[in-house]
Amino acid sequence: MTYNLSIEDENKEIARRYKDLLKGAYQTFTNEDKKEIRKAFDISLEAHKNQRRKTGEPYIFHPIAVAKIVAYEIGLYTTSIVAALLHDVVEDTDYTLEDIERLFGENVARIVNGLTKISHLKKEQTASVQAENFRKMLLTLNDDVRVILIKIADRLHNMQTMDAMPQDKQVKIASETLYIYAPLAHRLGLFNIKSELENLGLKYTEPEVYKDIFDKITQSKEEQKIYIDSFSDIIKESLNAEGFEYDIKGRRKSIYSIRKKMLSQGVTYEEIYDKFAIRIVYNSTLKNEKFDAWKIYSIVTDHFIPNPSRLRDWISQPKSTGYESLHITVMGPQGKWVEVQIRSERMNEIAEKGYAAHYKYKNNNERESGLDDWLNKIKDSLENPDGNAIDFVEDFKLNLYAKEIFVFTPGGDLIALPKNATALDFAFSIHTQVGMNCRGAKINGKLKPISHELFSGDQVEIITSSNQKPNIGWLDFVVTARARTRIKNALKEDQKKIAEEGKEILTRKLRHLKITLSESVVNDLVNFFKLKTSLDLFYRVGSGSIESAQLKEFISQRNNSFVNFFKKKIQRTPKNTLHEKDEVVDNYDSLVFGKEEERLDFKLSPCCNPIPGDKVFGFVTINEGIKVHKKDCPNAISLQSNYAYRIMSAKWIDSTKQEFKAIIKIYGNDHVGLVNEITEIISRNMNVNIHGLNISGHDGIFDGSITVSVKNKSQLQKLSDSIKKIEGIETVERIYKH
Ligand code: MN
Repeated sequence: MTYNLSIEDENKEIARRYKDLLKGAYQTFTNEDKKEIRKAFDISLEAHKNQRRKTGEPYIFHPIAVAKIVAYEIGLYTTSIVAALLHDVVEDTDYTLEDIERLFGENVARIVNGLTKISHLKKEQTASVQAENFRKMLLTLNDDVRVILIKIADRLHNMQTMDAMPQDKQVKIASETLYIYAPLAHRLGLFNIKSELENLGLKYTEPEVYKDIFDKITQSKEEQKIYIDSFSDIIKESLNAEGFEYDIKGRRKSIYSIRKKMLSQGVTYEEIYDKFAIRIVYNSTLKNEKFDAWKIYSIVTDHFIPNPSRLRDWISQPKSTGYESLHITVMGPQGKWVEVQIRSERMNEIAEKGYAAHYKYKNNNERESGLDDWLNKIKDSLENPDGNAIDFVEDFKLNLYAKEIFVFTPGGDLIALPKNATALDFAFSIHTQVGMNCRGAKINGKLKPISHELFSGDQVEIITSSNQKPNIGWLDFVVTARARTRIKNALKEDQKKIAEEGKEILTRKLRHLKITLSESVVNDLVNFFKLKTSLDLFYRVGSGSIESAQLKEFISQRNNSFVNFFKKKIQRTPKNTLHEKDEVVDNYDSLVFGKEEERLDFKLSPCCNPIPGDKVFGFVTINEGIKVHKKDCPNAISLQSNYAYRIMSAKWIDSTKQEFKAIIKIYGNDHVGLVNEITEIISRNMNVNIHGLNISGHDGIFDGSITVSVKNKSQLQKLSDSIKKIEGIETVERIYKH
């Protein structure tokens, strides 16, 4: 399609599109609103007057289209419509942010500023820069969620009009859309936009696949219509007899979802049995709509046999996106299982448009505050945004698509958590400190470990202890971004403390060897142990993984020859700046696979060349053993979805930080307070975590075993030594079986 309109026709077209924007939006505009929108349109038109899009069209078509998506599809109001019209003005024209603030006030200026910041983010290729960009974008959620909503609208229109772009750009933008924008739209409850983003994403990343499914759907349309008619014919009479006003529609799975299902289940298009669902949308009042839903349920199941395991009641417990609906799967005509979705007109609108529709049904004041409520949950996962950007975005994304479970507090409050969440996730969702000190949980009245997985309906009471603190093993079983970030931060703090202690130990030990701890000695030590920062060094001394013998070896090598000295000097120079970093860096030296963290033979895949520290997974090949790919390898999505059963989880570890379990047996004379003294000593020892404590006393004799996890033998030794010093303790020894 080539664009050629005369100036006159073009102006008419612009005017037509602008008018169209104001028609039928969610809001009924006051004169004030209309004036404001008109002003924004005039300024945008003027500012972009010399610009054209790649298609040849005048640039103003784009802001108008984005404003229209914002008004119709997302259902936002005047401020957002104005900001959408102006969203590219500061970025692309001579207008400044101050101009916008002067003309439209603080709110609009803040949103436009947020949007400008996002588009200023560098468009680099590497995953870490990308991730950093996404993180910054997600952080704007904390400022004003409208920034993200308008950004999603902007992205949707760009995806809709991408044909004129070079192919490599299309693929890049489309992958980015599938990676972050579609999940975000999903989480914000914008179902229609999410589906469209996904379909367009597929269209540009896998054009043939897209076209193939598209053609097949077109061919089967007639057949589908006949099926839905035969279904409605059977229940119509009963619905009419009850006086319902309703509409029965077929709801087809999106092209993208069909593709996903084909991959995940390894089936062909023809083999997918639930390509469409039947949706019954009925007219009702807020007061009666739940009752009506179950009445319709009763009618449907009078005529068709339901599958009892496929009943989903999102009306009594809406999803946290606001989604409400009643889903059943029944044996329909021709002996085919078909899903039936029952929902009121109000629920339907919310399901398709998300939160704006949600608040359409409330009064104006509630609308304002509702916007905040809606986002509080998402904001939660954005707190504490330190640390690695890729981790952050990955963790955040996990939460975007997660299925939900609902559990209860002891007081009966309902809490939504992602599927597979554990007691520890629950503890962190209550309060950070509750999470940090979580020792166990009572689930439905029974004592369970903190790693216990929760299920909908569980009632959870957290047991805390002020001695408890996070350890690295916790990261293996928490699933919420909130818990992950909090634990990671606490671990970092711990490492710093150990490093401080280590620095003192190192100073002392070197003094014994007649050496003063100077910057150059530290640098030499860092190089000698192949570490990255001075903090790494202090941490390893503090935790005992660098021992006196190794220090002596360093000294003797250092004194050995001039040649060595010069060598080191040369090696050292470029690294110097790194040593200043205020962080314990992982020194990834081994790769482990699976839940058991086994060491196995592997090859690094040449397609993405993973390096130590990258997020990776193992793929079991037929002839070449395990190949390791980066998680963001271009082949990853297709490998993971095509051959899920051949994927092995894998991670790089720092073997000096790995923990192992040990059991210590203690024997001695019992006295009051002995147990307290022992636990006190263990919890004061920063590197040790207690797993179990088993103690019996009889006739004044004390007999106990303690299971702990430690990083190395010297830690264990240190612990045994301090326990031995307790009065009454006779023997402390390590045993290998209970
Ligand atoms: Mn734009």
